[in-house]
Parts: sequence; C-alpha cells; structure tokens
Amino acid sequence: MSDWKPIIGLEVHAELLTRSKMFSPCPVVDSVEAEPNTAVDPVSLGLPGTLPVINERAVEFGLMVALALNCHIPRFNQFARKNYFYPDLPKGYQISQYDRPLAVNGYLDVEVTPEDGEPYLKRVRIRRAHLEEDTGKLTHMNGDSLVDYNRSGVPLLEIVTEPDIHSADEAEAYARALRAILQYLGVNNGDMSKGVLRIEPNISVMHRDDTDYRTRTEVKNLNSIRSLYRSIQYEINRQIALWESGEGVKQATLGWDEARQRIVVQRYKERADEYRYFPEPDLPVLEITPEWVERVRAQLPELPDAKRRRLMEVFGLSAYDARVLVMDQAVAQFYEAAVAAGANPKSAANWLVGSLFSLMNREGVEREAIAAIRIQPAQFAALVKLVDGGTLNRGTAAVVLEEMWQTGADPAQIVAEKGLAQVSDADAVAAAVAGVLAANEAMVRDYLAGKEKLFGALMGQCMAALKGKGNPQVVSEVLRRQLEARRGG
Ligand code: ADP
Ligand code: MG
Repeated sequence: MSDWKPIIGLEVHAELLTRSKMFSPCPVVDSVEAEPNTAVDPVSLGLPGTLPVINERAVEFGLMVALALNCHIPRFNQFARKNYFYPDLPKGYQISQYDRPLAVNGYLDVEVTPEDGEPYLKRVRIRRAHLEEDTGKLTHMNGDSLVDYNRSGVPLLEIVTEPDIHSADEAEAYARALRAILQYLGVNNGDMSKGVLRIEPNISVMHRDDTDYRTRTEVKNLNSIRSLYRSIQYEINRQIALWESGEGVKQATLGWDEARQRIVVQRYKERADEYRYFPEPDLPVLEITPEWVERVRAQLPELPDAKRRRLMEVFGLSAYDARVLVMDQAVAQFYEAAVAAGANPKSAANWLVGSLFSLMNREGVEREAIAAIRIQPAQFAALVKLVDGGTLNRGTAAVVLEEMWQTGADPAQIVAEKGLAQVSDADAVAAAVAGVLAANEAMVRDYLAGKEKLFGALMGQCMAALKGKGNPQVVSEVLRRQLEARRGG
C-alpha cells in the first residue's frame, strides 16, 4: 500500500443552453464558430448605465441540475460581485454568487470502474452549485491580445464537490455521470473541447500520518475527460515525489500539456485571491418558492440512472451494456431509436456495444459523436432484424455492417447486391458438406477414429465452401449427420 492518499475536489463550469445571456436579452452564440464580437450588447460589454436582469430560464436550468444532484435549495439566494481586473472582464467584476448560492449540500452516486479492480459505488458530495456569468475570451497572437466578448455574460452554473474523490478513476466516473446528467437535462451539450463544459480538479495528497490536508493545486484548461484522468494521475505522482524529496508542493494553478502529456505550472499563488465580494446592488435577492421547485421537479426528464435501471428491468440488458448505453446521451438516443424501429432490444444492445463500438473505436469516432456516423438507427435496426431473422450470420452481418459504415446504404440492399443472404437451403448445404468430406478423406478417418477436435476444422472448411454464408446451425447439423452416416458405412 502506498503511504499517500489522493484528495481531489472538482469544480465544474457548465454554460447553460439558454437562448439569451444571464443578465440581458443578448443572444448566446457558439463561441468557437461565431465571428468575434457579433453577439454583444451594452450589458455584456459592461457599459456604464446598464442594468442586469436575471434570466429566468437560466435559474430554472440551475434548479433542474440542483434537483438531479439531490441538493438543498435555500428559499433565498443572492448574486454578488467578484471583483478582479482582467481584459476579458469589461465591468471589472463578474456577477457570481458567494455566500448565498442557488443550491447546497447535494450528492451524486457514481459507479467507479477502475482499470484494475472491481467496480464499486461511490458517493460524491456536492458542496454547492451557483449561477454566474461567463467572461469574454482572450486570444494571444504575435505579442498582441485579441478579445472576443461573445461569451461575456453567457449563463454559467458552477458545481463544486467536497474533496471526496480519491483517484483519477473516481474523478472520471463523477465527470462522466455529471456530464450525462447535464446532457439529459438539456442544459449543456457536454462539449469539453469547446470549453462549454469545463472541469477543473483541485488536487492534494495526504500522508497516512497526516491529520490535516496539505497544499493543493488546481488544473485548468482540460479539454477532454481523458486529459482530466491523465492530468490527475500525473499530478498525484508529481506531488508525492515533491513531498518525498523534501521540496514540498507550492499552491499553484497548473495547465495540462496535451502534446507532451504533462503538467505545466502556469502560476504560483503567493497569497489567497482577494475578490472583495459584496452583494450585487443592482439585483434583488432571488426567492425560490417551494411551488417553483415542485414545478421544475415535475418537468425533469428521465435521468441516466433511471434509464439504466429501466433498460435492465424492462429489456433484460446486462449491467454492463445498460451502463455504457446510457453514459452518452447520443448513444442512448441511437439505441432507443433502433429499438423503436423494431430491433430486438437485447440483440440491438449486443450489436451496438460489441460490433458498432469496435468499428467506431477503430475509426477514432467518439461515442458521443454517434449521431454523425453514416449508419442511421433505423438501418442499424434493419441489420439486427436480418440477423435475428436468419438472413445473415455473424460473419456476413459484420461484412454488411462494414459496408454500411462506409456507404450508409441499407443492409437489405447490401445483402442483395453482394449476395450475402445466408444459405439455409438443405440441398445446397448437403452438397457443400459432401464435397468437403470427399476432399478430406484423411481428416474424416481421424475424426471417426476419435479425434473429435477435427469437427471444428471440417466445419470451417464447409463454411468456406459456402463462402461464409452458411447458416452455422444448419451446416453443423448436416456435417454431423454425414459424418455419422460414414461411421455406420
Ligand atoms: P476556493 O473557493 O478557493 O476555490 P474551495 O474551498 O471552495 O476553494 O474549494 C474548491 C475545491 O477544492 C472544492 O472542490 C474542494 O472540494 C476542493 N478542495 C478543498 N480542499 C482540498 C484539498 N486539500 N485537496 C484537494 N481538493 C481540495
Ligand atoms: Mg473556486
């Protein structure tokens, strides 16, 4: 056992998918795709004389997340000014929440599946979730800095955990589960590469003899869950080495160098940040009545955990299949659309988790991008039906799936064009089997003399003779029958 225990808390910033900004009717645009500074107004530019107005939809989105995370929602919450000076913050302060957040004291139960070891359930406590506005975006170029205020004022929900997380695996499980919840609620699309969802780990390590926490560091600008995982592993090892060498860990903001796969120190924190928070004088205290909470609760969609249990109970899926199918909303939608199109739920799960996922892996397509592949759910359902109906065997179905992947054609059309329909016709199979036996007299003799293992080799030859299209069950029956007939003769 190691003497060191990792201590990790996650801070998540999720942009909310509202049409307008947090405090003004200015539209929200894709901050990566849109032309810079095309979605700005006097409020998001922080011009003097403007007044903020709270976006009700953003509050409701925040409440949905708070309920999904089992939080307590105080009756009153309040916005506060977080003062600091940076060019991406035109007012010189960010409107955030401080000592009266939207939600507190929640939890999320996640299933952790370590690379080595058994899966286990883990409860991560949520310290708070609060609303704020996003800042603008700075781009540094040839010694100049360019600023884009499209993102300025976009609604953000910050979700902060207790330091309950003790490994990269646990952090990944929490991040995936939270991202799925945000997607299912329709409040965030989960795209870390565009910075729409930002997950920042605070990391320290505790020695077995410690009675208190040690200095922590914080990793910023992670653009995937993979880099979250890797950066945590790297940082844990870096800190242990620093403590053991006697040098010690200094409080710092870190970055993750994706190309070199290593931590880089962005800045050391000499002292605590001083934001001089005070209540936002231009906004009223916000009252969340119990009736409002109940109205929001009544509108909550089916969440990933409930869907996972339903897939197991109603469709009889394995725990593993159900878990990976609900993990990405896009995958769940693809799967449910295939079932709605008539595919047997269990077969569809097998083919999706088994074959289609391997194809996507091979081609480097992320699971969350499944909606963008050429194969449509209805076509996938048609393939599953061709297998279940006996037209295709596993091998030919794999060939058809490959062709569907390349061309997006319908499986029935591919089967017709390539003549892949399974041969179940007794005469055709009998002729092929007889041919194989005649050409392999020695093997047949050895088989009949007791070398039972040769059955598989003969079976393979028969399938080859049928160009892989034989119905394996029919072929195996006919082969056995013909062999036994020779034993008698
Ligand atoms: P701040 O307000 O300065 O950002 P918080 O106390 O609110 O700091 O904590 C921010 C995050 O850091 C939380 O997710 C919390 O769980 C985590 N955290 C606090 N102490 C530690 C620690 N010693 N090691 C790792 N994470 C920590
Ligand atoms: Mg913080």
